[in-house]
Amino acid sequence: MPIQSRWQIPIPRVSLPTFLFGSPTAPLSDKPAFISTRNPETHNLSLRDYRLYAQRLASGLLRSGLEPGDRVLLFSGNTLFFPVMVLGVIMAGGIFTGANPTYVVRELAYQLRDSGARYLVCAEGSLDTGLAAAKEAGLGADRIFIFDDGAATFEGRRVERETPEGKIRHWTALLDSPEEGRAYSWLELSTDEELDRVVALNYSSGTTGVAKGVMITHKNYVANCSQVIHLNSQHPEYEEKVKRAKYLCFLPMYHAMAQTIFCVNAPKSGFPVYIMPKFDFLEMLEAAQRFRITDLTLVPPVVVAMAKHPATRKFDLSSVETIGSGAAPLGREACEQLEALWPKGRINVKQGWGMTELTCAATTFHPAKKSESFSVGELLANCEAKIVADDEGKVEVAQGERGEVWVRAPNVMKGYWNKPEATRETLTEDGWLRTGDVAYVDKEGHFFIVDRKKELIKVKGLQVAPAELEALLLDHPDVQDAAVIGVTINGEELPRAYIVPQSQERATPEVAEKIKNWLAERVSRAKRLEGGVHFIDAIPKNPSGKIMRRALRDRAAAEQTKA
Ligand code: AMP
Repeated sequence: MPIQSRWQIPIPRVSLPTFLFGSPTAPLSDKPAFISTRNPETHNLSLRDYRLYAQRLASGLLRSGLEPGDRVLLFSGNTLFFPVMVLGVIMAGGIFTGANPTYVVRELAYQLRDSGARYLVCAEGSLDTGLAAAKEAGLGADRIFIFDDGAATFEGRRVERETPEGKIRHWTALLDSPEEGRAYSWLELSTDEELDRVVALNYSSGTTGVAKGVMITHKNYVANCSQVIHLNSQHPEYEEKVKRAKYLCFLPMYHAMAQTIFCVNAPKSGFPVYIMPKFDFLEMLEAAQRFRITDLTLVPPVVVAMAKHPATRKFDLSSVETIGSGAAPLGREACEQLEALWPKGRINVKQGWGMTELTCAATTFHPAKKSESFSVGELLANCEAKIVADDEGKVEVAQGERGEVWVRAPNVMKGYWNKPEATRETLTEDGWLRTGDVAYVDKEGHFFIVDRKKELIKVKGLQVAPAELEALLLDHPDVQDAAVIGVTINGEELPRAYIVPQSQERATPEVAEKIKNWLAERVSRAKRLEGGVHFIDAIPKNPSGKIMRRALRDRAAAEQTKA
């Protein structure tokens, strides 16, 4: 019998913009909702500003020729206008897709092509990468816009660049006037078919293969935000908490986790978000101290760094009330080390678990309960899950035993963009999502993620798809065959390549180093082979040619024990 959530809640049958802003004209708060940690006094946006900028952008995008369902790709780190870009595109009836701001040209060109983006909005500092990728993807200069870090937009400066292909305009060229913005009404949606329209393509490799566009719909987004806000509101002093909560965002907003929590959940809940352009350990601690942050949303490497780094003790973090972690596994020991920085009993690090394919989250630890293990909490409202032992999902394991987690819920994605086969492999006809995560569930309904059945590697919470690295490695002249797996070194997951060399004489440490460096030039940082390059006689494969990753993982574990 599938495990049911303890809660069933009504999910509003409205579009995402209506869920967030009520209506195009409803009165909204003018208290700062998004605040720059660098210029907090002058550079901030209220919920009312957020809606108006999004309306101006939506109106301007339509004027510039955006058609329903057109994809707009944002290639940038976090800025105050990142959420505006997300909601503005959606208000216009377009589809938002964010790319990792550390991508190299090849990676960005892939996402531009795969999503079929008609617009590229590109961070000023990454324009060379953006232009080169746009050229590869065949996107003209008139469809490329510069996104500044927020300061130029606030100061009314237009950042532009002349290129041989034409002028690249500032993104504000896409904004209609405040009057036109105020007059812009987004389409109200209510039927199943309308609410099933795609609003975002968040990229994820899923259980196998390379990165794919995860189709997130109005319904998915509204459901997941409602589910998370419902669980947050189980906090015994929620009403009081809403008045004093302050969030800090340094996790990248192109990714499902930060996008959902900070672009939608926080403003919907009335929690101001202090936005950092990117993660910097000391800057994060400084910001937490300076702005008296109450809620920290972390990923495991940051929990570990905070727990271990002596600098953490130099900052006054007495305002912190809750710490949450997600995106990758985290042991209880690190949580306890972090908790020890506060008076006993004050802080309890709690985990949540989710996937891009689940919009953001499917389980979270209850705000009123104490976490004493590495559990990722219980099912959010309206979710059901089963723990299965077979590929068809017919055999459910006994309570407490391990198996693959399958989830059925309103926050499960619509499918993969233009990839019907990958969609069929991941979503069953009756709506179950095969997560590729292995877990057990205790008698109270707490989930414990213990392993990953899928290929995916998580480096500092970021996705690394082995299939992408393997395909690249096969282009190297010294490589006959290759397989990439994740290995855990000093508590961190890192990609390691097992390589069958073209000739045995070339199987030397120098060549291994060369291969590692060669790949590093072709990929963003998280994908570098920091787990090592090892030579092997043959890649273990099953009769149908599929890499037997389990055998390689066992080999890596044995090598580690020997070392
Ligand atoms: P993403 O789609 O990038 O959010 O990655 C989702 C994957 O990250 C999940 O399928 C898990 O493998 C892993 N993950 C997310 N949260 C947790 C967690 N709390 N504990 C263990 N693994 C997690």
